[in-house]
Amino acid sequence: MISKLASRTRKKALKKIKPKSPDELSASWIQEDLLYSGKGRALFMILPTIGCSWALSETGGCTMCSYISDSFLEPVDAGEIIEIFDGIISRYELDIYESKNGNIIKIFDGIISRYELEEKTAVKIFTSGSFLNPEEFPQEAVEHILSRLGAMENVEEIIFESRPEYINQEAIARCCELAGDKIVEISIGLETCNEKTRLMKINKGFSNSDFEIAVNTISDLKGDFNVRAKAYILVKPILVSEKRAVEEAISTAIYAEKVGVDRLSFCPSTVHRGTIMEDLWRKGSYRPPWIWSLIEIINRTREKVSVPAIMDTSGFGTSRGPYNCKKCNRDLKNLIIRANLEQTQVPAYECECRSQWLAELKFSETTASTDIKYSEYS
Ligand code: SF4
Ligand SMILES: [Zn+2]
Repeated sequence: MISKLASRTRKKALKKIKPKSPDELSASWIQEDLLYSGKGRALFMILPTIGCSWALSETGGCTMCSYISDSFLEPVDAGEIIEIFDGIISRYELDIYESKNGNIIKIFDGIISRYELEEKTAVKIFTSGSFLNPEEFPQEAVEHILSRLGAMENVEEIIFESRPEYINQEAIARCCELAGDKIVEISIGLETCNEKTRLMKINKGFSNSDFEIAVNTISDLKGDFNVRAKAYILVKPILVSEKRAVEEAISTAIYAEKVGVDRLSFCPSTVHRGTIMEDLWRKGSYRPPWIWSLIEIINRTREKVSVPAIMDTSGFGTSRGPYNCKKCNRDLKNLIIRANLEQTQVPAYECECRSQWLAELKFSETTASTDIKYSEYS
């Protein structure tokens, strides 16, 4: 039932996509981040592909995800991916080279960037799908990227994403060999430990046992390689009340740690275009999580789980993302970013909207995910 609906929604969305070149679809940026060895920085890069094969299949893919709309939808040649990747890498190296040419600002920038380049860096590769699926991401590009990053001194970690079905001993061992002594981390979109939510509400198409097999495969290789597993946890899928969303996210963190992941990343829902989540949101039957809920999740997770856990703050304070009220959105986002970097609890903070959140938690089993417009009742 959910996959029929997802497939219909996906087909409708795919028809509306305006074609973009692989170059236009790629992006990169650098920001402060938490590495296994402590605070450092991360170079994020989005590399274009044909798109996630799960989303392109008859199942229609996951109910909250529109990464396929940012994909090329046709196979992208390995050469083209390699060129984009090399361009991103050299852009960051270029700062130093240009600084030698005299201009004071450039010299300053060069010193700053040289200093930054000497800092330890994690490189996070996003392919809007599975890096390990050769049908999405050509093997030649995998080899080039991993061997190039493997040879860069300041790179400490290489992180990419994959669905569990592409995680096998052979594929992981090959990646680790190419990456040399770097930490290779494979991120898996577990989303939730509740199988009913994952299958019926997210339409993810894999079971807890598939996830456990994938994590065990990675764990079995730890003796030979510097390899790690990370789980993404989706906070507040569709048709899940605010209260349940909090409880499910925390139970999922506990479950994922037990299975053996090395790191956790909570991804609070943001409403992507062309998804079932967007249809429900437009009808007032879904609202993204409150930021208060996210704070509750981090603070309780820190008490129960010992692996590093990060709360993604993208989309905070926007109408399609997690929000509280205009007075506190930004402050709380900053407190969460600090708690991510320091792996601490988010300190106590007061705002009048907290009582609305508490009311929503109390009654959310009755209202489910419905967006209550408090202003209309006050
Ligand atoms: S969440 Fe991952 S598996 Fe699901 S459709 Fe998006 S890219 Fe594909
Ligand atoms: Zn507030």
